[in-house]
Amino acid sequence: MSTPQLAASVLEEIPGPSARNIAVRVVPGAERALREGHPWLYADSIREESREGAPGDLAVVFDRKGRFLAVGLYDPHSSIRVRVLQHGEPAPIGREWFVARLEAAAARRAPLRDRPPAARTTGYRLVHGENDGLPGFVVDRYAETLVVKLYTAAWVPHLQDVLAALTSVTPSERLVLRLGRATQERPEYLYGLEDGSILSGPPLDGPVLFWENGLRFEVDPIRGQKTGFYLDQRENRARVEPLAGGKDVLNVFAYTGGFSVYAARGGARRIVDVDASAPALAAAERNLVHNRRIPAVATVSHETVVADAFEALTRMGEAGRRFGMVIIDPPAFARSRAQVDAALSAYEGLTQLGLAVLSAGGILVQASCSRPIDAGTFFDAVHGAAGGVGRPLREQVRTGHPVDHPVGFREGAYLKCLFAEAP
Ligand code: SAH
Repeated sequence: MSTPQLAASVLEEIPGPSARNIAVRVVPGAERALREGHPWLYADSIREESREGAPGDLAVVFDRKGRFLAVGLYDPHSSIRVRVLQHGEPAPIGREWFVARLEAAAARRAPLRDRPPAARTTGYRLVHGENDGLPGFVVDRYAETLVVKLYTAAWVPHLQDVLAALTSVTPSERLVLRLGRATQERPEYLYGLEDGSILSGPPLDGPVLFWENGLRFEVDPIRGQKTGFYLDQRENRARVEPLAGGKDVLNVFAYTGGFSVYAARGGARRIVDVDASAPALAAAERNLVHNRRIPAVATVSHETVVADAFEALTRMGEAGRRFGMVIIDPPAFARSRAQVDAALSAYEGLTQLGLAVLSAGGILVQASCSRPIDAGTFFDAVHGAAGGVGRPLREQVRTGHPVDHPVGFREGAYLKCLFAEAP
């Protein structure tokens, strides 16, 4: 496998942040939001800038009376023009400042690190961007591999400092760099950094193995979706386990079979994984194999279906297939307000298709990670769709964010999941 390798010297060749800050003045609404601690300053809220900025310049935001409001990372190519690092009072942004933020983030994850061996968890999100005070900067830990994902090129000039801070707060064997789409579009600001580069540590000659709640999973941190694994669903997967005993379980949008491995340990009889991605389903097969030491996992019957989820569900319904549990965890259908209506119809469609293959008394688990759709709206849509086909749901629980995906501001809440029984 060819993996871009970067000598440490490449990092050293990236020019550091400009010594000259940008002074920014904003409209009253933005002043208020920043005072309340909001991490984003939109371009259209800016009234005045002292100069044109480059990605990663520090922007200092002042109020009408010239008082300090916030300092953050400037990105001339994003509608989120400034991502705020520090509110309220000035601070020198550099290695020590990063250490303090990273230590706070690491402390928040202590409950995950302190689990007993049976619930051993070595895969978790260490830094959740703005929600941990480091906007656009995500770090996931998979055992001894850290995956750093940059959602803006504004981090590039600060990379040496923030990575040095990261290494001192939480040492690891390997650092992998991932770049969000918007970041990849700006190669002129990347100085040779590439998506999937290994910044330090040994090359990868296969997947990385880690633990989640005492289960073994593999992840491809270089090519996998997001940073390779949907760590945010850990607690929902754990909830599935005790509900799956004796059931036939259909896992729709299964990816690498996270929910399925838990269902298998919980004693599911048969598991069917549906996903559009063949490589993801191949990893789902292997994730069961990694846990074969557990008798219930070794004996479960497993089937994978590479297909569009809507088509596969329709076909299974027509063929009369029925399951005792149906899990539906699709990708974000809405990324902007304009997509909300279409996304809600898609969620409702999935609820109805899922119910058509769910036996009477079976359990529906349905999640949404669409940011512009709030929890109440999503749950109402699922209930409405179920009522519409005469299967009004009895709720077991609604869940939100796990401890390693804290919600630090309004737009930070994206994950919602319903567990319900259908008549
Ligand atoms: N439940 C998973 C995460 C799901 S992520 C877990 O716990 O790990 C969403 C998945 O949906 C991805 O694997 C993606 O390949 C798949 N996907 C996206 N669109 C799809 C479609 N139309 N039909 C089937 N799968 C789809």
